[in-house]
Amino acid sequence: MYPRVIINQKNILENAKRMVSLAKDNHIFDIMAIVKVFAGHLDFLKELAETGVTYIGDSRIQNLKKIQDIKLPKILVRLPMLSEIDEVIQFADVSLNSEIKTIIELNKASKIANKIHQIILMFDLGDLREGIYYKSDYLDVIDQILKLDHIELLGIGTNLTCYGGLVPDQEILNRLVKIKNHIESHFNCKLQIISGGNSSTVTLFGKNQIPKEINSLRLGESIFFGKETSYSTEISHFNHDNFILEAQIIEWQIKPSFPDGPTSINSFGEKVDIKDLGPMKRAILAIGKQDVILSNLSPVDKNINIIGGSSDHLIIDITNANYELGDIIRFNLNYPALLHLMNSDYVEKVFR
Ligand SMILES: *Cc1c(COP(=O)(O)O)cnc(C)c1O
Repeated sequence: MYPRVIINQKNILENAKRMVSLAKDNHIFDIMAIVKVFAGHLDFLKELAETGVTYIGDSRIQNLKKIQDIKLPKILVRLPMLSEIDEVIQFADVSLNSEIKTIIELNKASKIANKIHQIILMFDLGDLREGIYYKSDYLDVIDQILKLDHIELLGIGTNLTCYGGLVPDQEILNRLVKIKNHIESHFNCKLQIISGGNSSTVTLFGKNQIPKEINSLRLGESIFFGKETSYSTEISHFNHDNFILEAQIIEWQIKPSFPDGPTSINSFGEKVDIKDLGPMKRAILAIGKQDVILSNLSPVDKNINIIGGSSDHLIIDITNANYELGDIIRFNLNYPALLHLMNSDYVEKVFR
């Protein structure tokens, strides 16, 4: 069946083991594998759970529900919706939080379920996505959390390089360390986990810049693609091209490269800038913007160029390549491409 994504399991599992050991060299002993891109694929995630990672996490509760058989503690990494509190208590052992109102609701549901739910309180160190802003007064919130008898404050955390593109460095991570010290001394308590971000923090490995208090990271892309995400550089000794998209040619014809007549906008409301390159060999593949953002694909055969597409069609220029109707064209993927494709029911997933 096409289109399909081929996933090199062995390469990814190797990366995970290497990451666990590399993180230890940087005094990080907890690796939370954040597995959104696998959309709750149980068989593979069971194997990933055996690589030395200590938590398994996802942003969607539906995916955590699918992987309940995995023995590792499960962490919900998107702030819970007030409308999903019961499911969060049922399917996640830990959740990231920033709203006391939500935490109070979690406490109530946790009490009814006769459980203790753990939370990591998120601080925004300046990237401006989730978390209590690091300069604001947070002691009152901590005080309220510590009084809840079915919530355990497991630790604090931050998320960087996601919205604002803020790149982690020693000074920024020290903002989180300062908060840890302040909380611990003020309440005479010990925070177990200080979660210093995602794959963008991996850029600091080996540079002696991660404060020793940071003991945990939440990692997806760096494990699956073997790249840190601050600058998108490849981590040496990791495997890189672990995912391939295969799509089939459904039309192969020689046509002009410029529309023949007056033009307006395309089916996605965009005005496309089309250059007249004369007649060309054009192929249409059975995959489209419904499944993936086309610019996130790169053809494995460098003689192929992506021209554009629509919901269900991807048009390529194969003037300099030799393919015919029915042939399969292969693409390398970036993280957003993988995320979209793995969540499309119209794309087959093949784990090898
Ligand atoms: C997705 C996500 C991560 C993992 O990010 P990567 O860049 O894939 O390492 C970590 N934390 C949160 C809150 C996330 O949503």
